[in-house]
Amino acid sequence: MKIVFATGNPGKLREAQEILGEGFELMTPAEAGISEDIPETGNTLRANSLQKAQYIYDKTGLDCFADDTGLEVDILGGDPGVHTARYGGPQKDPAANIARLLSEMERREHEAADARELGINTPRATRKARFRTSVTLIINGEMHFFDGIMEGSIAREKAGKGGFGYDPVFIPDGYDVTAAEITEEEKNAISHRGKALRAMAEYLKSR
Ligand code: IMP
Repeated sequence: MKIVFATGNPGKLREAQEILGEGFELMTPAEAGISEDIPETGNTLRANSLQKAQYIYDKTGLDCFADDTGLEVDILGGDPGVHTARYGGPQKDPAANIARLLSEMERREHEAADARELGINTPRATRKARFRTSVTLIINGEMHFFDGIMEGSIAREKAGKGGFGYDPVFIPDGYDVTAAEITEEEKNAISHRGKALRAMAEYLKSR
């Protein structure tokens, strides 16, 4: 089936096409005639994915879906969360995002007066984090939601050239390398986006 994916991110588009497989022909917003930036002003991942999908649907009337992803870091109280894309500044630069993430985490670790009480003598545990994705699908004008989570931890430095975004510092649970050091196939099998989009695909096939 032909469906618009409300993203301008080539990394997301590539992963989504791979996850959904040949039965789905993904169109970009540009291919659907939308050249402007799609607004993303919600306070939650779901509000943002809904806003993006609704925007495409209102403008084109086409079946579409959008995802919104946040990185939740335990030692940062769940930040950057809904602010993940612009954590390092409005330009959404992945290197700036990662630099801020690592420096905020280091600052929190230093601020912790009693490391043992806070559990930071076990670095893996206290660098715990997760990616969370919310997908909104609009099909025949009806809305459906699908979520996915990938648990892991934040590395102390970047490693790997694969993936995109925060992948060079995200170590998925069960791995000792970052998400930028595994194959795209491996990442899609365990990722937040993989889980949410496979659930969406199953729903679409079952209709
Ligand atoms: P958004 O969903 O496009 O708003 O993305 C939020 C932020 O999370 C951006 O900085 C993305 O680069 C990042 N991000 C989204 N998905 C992934 C992923 O699978 N790996 C690493 N970073 C990601």
